[in-house]
Amino acid sequence: MNYKKSVLERCQGALRLVDWILPPRCPLTGQVVEVNGALSVEAWRALTFISSPFCSCCGFPFEIASGGDFSDAGEAKEELCGPCLAEVKPYAQARSIFAYDDASRDLILAFKHGDQIHLTETFTPLLLRVGAEMLSQADWIVPVPLHRVRLIKRRYNQAALLAKKIAENCGAVYQAAVLKRVRSTPPQGHMGTKERHDNVRGAFEVHSDFRELIVGKNIVLVDDVFTTGATLEACCRELVNSGAQNVSVLTLARVVKPH
Ligand SMILES: [Zn+2]
Repeated sequence: MNYKKSVLERCQGALRLVDWILPPRCPLTGQVVEVNGALSVEAWRALTFISSPFCSCCGFPFEIASGGDFSDAGEAKEELCGPCLAEVKPYAQARSIFAYDDASRDLILAFKHGDQIHLTETFTPLLLRVGAEMLSQADWIVPVPLHRVRLIKRRYNQAALLAKKIAENCGAVYQAAVLKRVRSTPPQGHMGTKERHDNVRGAFEVHSDFRELIVGKNIVLVDDVFTTGATLEACCRELVNSGAQNVSVLTLARVVKPH
């Protein structure tokens, strides 16, 4: 036991030395922070957190949409935005931590392509908070899958890292293999909303192993960015059409353009 303890102490000492030589830095501002993955005060200020009032379905923030006076913010809880009034979405709720802007984009790119997977620890408590309502009823936490070619290139699926950590913390089951991407889709960066919907149509399928298990399940679908919602909606439709009772969507950020 003493030997184990002394090894542990030596390891901790070595880690402290590494921290001294290479102190953990904020992934957004580069400032020295307490622990790996922590955000500096300036980073917190730079990020735009989505808060009430927002659409009770898709989570679109009304304040950013119109820039009006929202002194009656609390009253908007059950209100729907225009697109959600016009068309029933295939998900019950969509919620995100941040608006997708320069600050959150840098942070998410570091997470997605920069191997900064320790950011999972930074994002998880925030996701648990904004998704508290949907997570309290969730049976399964499901990540949006990457096509296997892209997964090999990127080495990890950032949505899967988040989904796994969320499940560990909310008591639902992490189900990585429910959805599979049956064809690779071209990057959607420059596509409009309709093109994006066409691009992902039929791109996802529920794996045959889950055809019976999925019936009646409450599912929270996890991804990094809600852009037009085309990919997320395609996944939700497939889950609902396969028998899921209810699907909600949880993402780190969402594009917020007036609509
Ligand atoms: Zn809406």
